[in-house]
Amino acid sequence: MFKKYDVIIIGAGAAGIMSAIEAGKRGRKVLLFDHTKKIGEKIRISGGGRCNFTNLNIHPNKFISKNPKFIISALNQYNQHDFIKLINKHNIKFHEKKLGQLFCDDSAQQIIDMLLLECQNAKVILKKETIVSNIEKKDNQYIIEANSDKYLCDSLIIATGGLSVPKIGASTFGYDIAKKFNLNIIETLPALVPLTFSEKILEMCKELSGLSLDAIVSYNKIFFEEGMLFTHRGLSGPSVLQISSYWKLGNDIKINLSPKLDMFKFLENEKKLDPKQDISKIIFKILPKRLASIICKEVGASGNISELSNKLLNKLGNQINAWLVKPVGSEGYRTAEVTLGGVDTNELSSKSMMSIKHPGLFFIGEVVDVTGHLGGYNFQWAWSSGFVAGQYA
Ligand SMILES: Cc1cc2nc3c(=O)[nH]c(=O)nc-3n(C[C@H](O)[C@H](O)[C@H](O)COP(=O)(O)OP(=O)(O)OC[C@H]3O[C@@H](n4cnc5c(N)ncnc54)[C@H](O)[C@@H]3O)c2cc1C
Repeated sequence: MFKKYDVIIIGAGAAGIMSAIEAGKRGRKVLLFDHTKKIGEKIRISGGGRCNFTNLNIHPNKFISKNPKFIISALNQYNQHDFIKLINKHNIKFHEKKLGQLFCDDSAQQIIDMLLLECQNAKVILKKETIVSNIEKKDNQYIIEANSDKYLCDSLIIATGGLSVPKIGASTFGYDIAKKFNLNIIETLPALVPLTFSEKILEMCKELSGLSLDAIVSYNKIFFEEGMLFTHRGLSGPSVLQISSYWKLGNDIKINLSPKLDMFKFLENEKKLDPKQDISKIIFKILPKRLASIICKEVGASGNISELSNKLLNKLGNQINAWLVKPVGSEGYRTAEVTLGGVDTNELSSKSMMSIKHPGLFFIGEVVDVTGHLGGYNFQWAWSSGFVAGQYA
């Protein structure tokens, strides 16, 4: 009546496939389910189609979790160099774009093909378009009902990812199973997501839509210095996506539009050097023209710099070096790269990713309360947590 497997994995994304390969390599009889037709869609669309598959600078401090130490064990067991070894074994050419971020030279499809080949070599059975309708635990084994068949396994790995980009397969499944087995969930929120604005700031963003520049974007003591992009909805670009993982609704973020320059000191100096200069022309030297014009207008700075008080120059300097803006929200899961929160790590063994309350039940990847910074960290968490579960399942 039951189809019996050693290990069943639900979710054939980065983490699920990695765990399947590793468990299969240990000689376990592995079945891997996904409800979609196409496997590895998030990998395919990642990194602009070239998949930023890891980062040379992997470190636990690049991850967000209620319990930051949880991450250390999985990263120690399988790190970026282990994944690079796998990439090299398959002759996939890659390059460092910036800040240690590694991308395929050619296409993200190479990563998917590599993982599927490894699955085949490890004798993993992959079932696509499979809807799991029920999971029960009986005598320390798990019974899974899927597409009107019944399966039995010793180890069940939940790897169904987070909530971002629902149109390519994201679901609440992993969180629902965690709740069913009485595991605590840390509140989930979209992260690595563009921030939205209303009224004056929104109008300004619309006017500047398409313009990008390097900026330091900060919230409390956390800051990121990377590109920032004005869009017709608000602000995006790496520095804004990064801060979105920390920002809390109702608060301001601070933006330094000219990170390399103390604007007030610069303006004081310009005033001494050439008092007849027009203020907007001075700001044009530092910022893109459209942005400079809006800022000068906003502060009320026009005419010769000699005619402007130091108080006004200070205000102008602050508007550029410490612009305070209050987002009204984010673009949500539709465009978020990841989900913050998830299965509480206190419920899991950091060594194996297995549930402490329910031996044999594992949670890995994005469904767990571990969220990486932008730059390959989220895939590395998927590889590392998947690898670990594959050793113990
Ligand atoms: C646009 C975009 C770009 C990104 N770029 C990068 C990048 O360049 N670098 C990086 O590190 N991270 C990137 N990320 C984040 C990264 O893709 C995820 O963190 C990573 O894929 C998480 O892996 P996972 O295996 O946990 O989940 P997923 O990859 O989401 O896989 C989950 C799998 O579970 C399946 N599933 C869901 N529900 C069910 C169900 N009920 N039954 C059966 N199967 C189910 C899904 O179909 C999916 O195949 C990006 C994300 C997005 C959205």
